[in-house]
Amino acid sequence: MPRALMLHDDAPRARLETLDESQLPERAVRVAIDYSDLNYKDAMAVTGHGKIVREYPLVPGIDFAGTVTDSTDARFAADDRVILTGWGVGERHWGGFAEAMRVDADWLVPCPQPLSTRQAMLFGTAGLTAMLSVMRLKEAGLGPGDGPVVVTGASGGVGSWAVSILAHEGFEVHAITGKPEQNAWLEALGAHAILSRANFESRGRPLESTQWAGAVDTVGGQILANLLAQMNYAGKVAAVGLAGDAALPTTVMPFILRGVSLLGVDSVYIPFDRRRAAWQRIAALPNALLSHMHVEEVGLDDVPDRAHAMLEGRTHGRVLIDPR
Ligand code: NDP
Repeated sequence: MPRALMLHDDAPRARLETLDESQLPERAVRVAIDYSDLNYKDAMAVTGHGKIVREYPLVPGIDFAGTVTDSTDARFAADDRVILTGWGVGERHWGGFAEAMRVDADWLVPCPQPLSTRQAMLFGTAGLTAMLSVMRLKEAGLGPGDGPVVVTGASGGVGSWAVSILAHEGFEVHAITGKPEQNAWLEALGAHAILSRANFESRGRPLESTQWAGAVDTVGGQILANLLAQMNYAGKVAAVGLAGDAALPTTVMPFILRGVSLLGVDSVYIPFDRRRAAWQRIAALPNALLSHMHVEEVGLDDVPDRAHAMLEGRTHGRVLIDPR
């Protein structure tokens, strides 16, 4: 009988429970979950911030990797190693903070060799989203020779993977962080220069001196507006997150006078083929990138505490969850 972290709409919100198999959703594929991880959206769901959870009770966890134990869908069989990210899992469908879960076959991607399921969740939704951002920037024409690329929320899950992957691909990466104590770690990930978040928080002019060929932004708000004003002619910005603010107090000036592109990145509903392609690119990254990532490994009962820490900006890198 699998244990799961269950969210309720009364106190205490998050409870560790043992589920009867019959309580699992009636879906085609049962997966024994090896690892999940904590994303910003999970932290909001577990703590009750925002409107992430659509109905209670709900097992949160927007992603997991594990091994199929049984399947009524011909695409999967027992012992297949699989990854699930997105599709509203952990928001409207029961998710990965459990020892096992039943899910739709459409939501699963085979875990590509040589990635272990643990390594897959060290990347998780954060690493997938960082890879999708890099793919989006490169498809828009950005190359390492074009100039520096800046990453915001650099010490976070998406940000740190973006720094790491961009540096690996030969880009000169500038990391913006609110955590000066993580400067040395960000340099180890491959950041060429570290900039203080405080320098980007006040309202700037619609156009500033140009500095950046590209950007991966995980924070939104005034910081994104300021980056847009600093982009080189034809600069490219991947808009990924809202850890600072969902608002975007900008003008049309960067777009109409400098031809800047603002490129949206979504990891939740991207089609299967692109999802699989991104995971294959992740699997081809050298192991050295994983060895530099900061990982905190916790159990299901630690999740509420780490969720609060994440929203308060007290985590960095990745929080890996071993449900057993
Ligand atoms: P993390 O909490 O791991 O990272 C967020 C980082 O943002 C923090 O580490 C911090 O970095 C920075 N930050 C935190 N608070 C503020 C603030 N008030 N103002 C400015 N910067 C702040 O979260 P994730 O990496 O998991 O997610 C980052 C964002 O990306 C979230 O908004 C999330 O919802 C979004 N996201 C979007 C996806 C998509 O499909 N588009 C997929 C995954 C995530 P530092 O201290 O270094 O500045």
